[in-house]
Amino acid sequence: MASRWMWASQTIILLGAVFVLAGCEEQTNSAQETESAAVVSTPSVLASAGPVKTAEPQTPSMEQLVERYKGLELIDAHNHDASDSRYQSQLGLWKQTGLGRTVLFGDVSEPSAVGTDAVAWEAYLKYPDRVIPYFSGFDLHDPGCLQVIRGNLEKGYFGLGEIAVASTNSPVVSKVAWKANDPMDGYLPQIYDLIAEYNAPILIHLDPVGGEPLAKLEQALEEHPDTIFIFGHINAYNSPQETERLMAKHPNLYGDFFAGFTLYNPDGGGKAEPFLPVLKKYADRFMLSTDSGYGITEVRAIEAMYRVLDQLGDPVVQKNIAHDNLMKLLQAQPATQTQLKELRKQGAGGAGTEAAPQKLSKLEAGRLLAQAPKG
Ligand SMILES: [Zn+2]
Repeated sequence: MASRWMWASQTIILLGAVFVLAGCEEQTNSAQETESAAVVSTPSVLASAGPVKTAEPQTPSMEQLVERYKGLELIDAHNHDASDSRYQSQLGLWKQTGLGRTVLFGDVSEPSAVGTDAVAWEAYLKYPDRVIPYFSGFDLHDPGCLQVIRGNLEKGYFGLGEIAVASTNSPVVSKVAWKANDPMDGYLPQIYDLIAEYNAPILIHLDPVGGEPLAKLEQALEEHPDTIFIFGHINAYNSPQETERLMAKHPNLYGDFFAGFTLYNPDGGGKAEPFLPVLKKYADRFMLSTDSGYGITEVRAIEAMYRVLDQLGDPVVQKNIAHDNLMKLLQAQPATQTQLKELRKQGAGGAGTEAAPQKLSKLEAGRLLAQAPKG
């Protein structure tokens, strides 16, 4: 699937650029590449995930981290495994590693995403307490996209994502058929207003993090203050300083922190410390993600989320970033007219639904509908 290849390709290109522009850094990058290769070859089983080789002796093992933080019910805020039942093979790992819920979708801003969106929905019907379905299959240059988006949100999807609102550097995302040229392109302004009606967030892919694309994103954030923007992998090819500037300036901006990128991608720097102050300062607007373990194994990506949590130290910050911030975004979405109509039709929910339908959340309505007998 397209999105799973973007960072690797980008990494190769960027490393190539570094070699050309700064030959003296070749040795460092080669060392990082070797280390990265070692990480990739780590068997993807929980027991052998363990601490990184170079870590200090007191570094907790993966088992210890899971034991310590499983009560948080960590949510993965960005996962592409909604294709060909890939998610089925990950369910065991998610349970084993103490994950609570997973934001699930597949391809990004291209026609094939319509199919992976449907897989995410099926997964949600089977596992309504574990899967949070998002969707990405619409052409934002076609006015018909507004109907598609309203229809999906009415049906019960919780968010849009991952949406390519600008992409130049990523060799794959930059070529997807339905990407935007910038975050104000096509019907995006109308889309931002529409999703605000549903309190539904949009999880965006934006690269490069700078120049015109970023200026247009800031325009979108300012002109659509009631819309919740989640900046996908905000830490990828971006600095802690720029992250802080954006979070400070835009209260409707949330950050999806791809922990595996910072800790285990050769371009990620290898250390979470530079990002910890901004994560703590805006602890009510960050969440953690695996990006499906892109470029590393899924188990390493999950391990990275736990390691970042561990380094944050503060229990309130940990709880917010691991779980509460995203959960609040879901709980703030009311049951839709379509869901309520469907509930009445199916008689699902019984007296509780009849009593206070206007107070039912989309989460509660979705759960009742998923459990209702089919046919
Ligand atoms: Zn992604």
